[in-house]
Amino acid sequence: MPGSRACISPNDRGFTHADGVYEIVRSYAGTLFRIPDHLARLKRSLAAVRIAVPDVDTFAETAAELLRRNRLDKKDATVYIQITRGIAERMRAPGPAIPTVYIETSPLIARRALCRGVSVITLPDIRWGRCDIKTIGLLPNALARMQATDKGVYEALFIRDGFVTEGTHTNVFGVKDGTVLTHPPDHHILPGITRTVLLELCRALGIPISESPIPEPELTRLDELFLTCTTAEVIPVLRVNDVAVADGKPGPITRRLQSAFRRLSRRA
Ligand code: PLP
Repeated sequence: MPGSRACISPNDRGFTHADGVYEIVRSYAGTLFRIPDHLARLKRSLAAVRIAVPDVDTFAETAAELLRRNRLDKKDATVYIQITRGIAERMRAPGPAIPTVYIETSPLIARRALCRGVSVITLPDIRWGRCDIKTIGLLPNALARMQATDKGVYEALFIRDGFVTEGTHTNVFGVKDGTVLTHPPDHHILPGITRTVLLELCRALGIPISESPIPEPELTRLDELFLTCTTAEVIPVLRVNDVAVADGKPGPITRRLQSAFRRLSRRA
């Protein structure tokens, strides 16, 4: 239905409690990139928050149909999927409810400048202990992103116990002496689909990987630093808290992975 006709109850638990989960899938000229991985992550998120939705596998076809109906099947686009627990009384333990399922498509306006590099700040990671669940409760992420915008930079990197976990909407990778470093996939980060693809590309290209967290003071001593996410792919980081990373230019491994990702996604 047209977005303007969609109605959601004010008693929907998503609205009152941020009680829900979501996914964002990228579509390249009508091809949904890594849709099985996104739906698998969605199932894991749903199971973790105890929302039962039996027909998640049908969402791939729904998404493809929506892209066609919105004439986005020949363009770059995103598919947003949100599921909340549904309608339930406020301030009570939620009983069985019919989950609200919402799927929409949007044209992707690529921010081409991002692939040439960005600046970031670091901030304390004040989020909860299950950042691996892709929940719609994104207030700490939104507040940190606002602080980044206030400082005129693209992203804020979260620091927990002295180590970089991830960005507000990105996973973080460093390069030191030829090895690609990134936080292990535990409860403190979202296991990004782009992150998984990047690690696969590193293996295919023979680039060594270490899934170990980067200490904050090491950030500007790295040879290269970059971010990944579904909508912006691979983004070089040139400055952290106003200090240059290496020579302040996108590094060779970052560039290699950027082009490998581009080739893979456009051929998917
Ligand atoms: N980390 C967080 C907190 C995110 O919100 C996202 C994406 O929205 C990512 C990482 C990157 O995940 P993906 O590559 O699946 O887009």
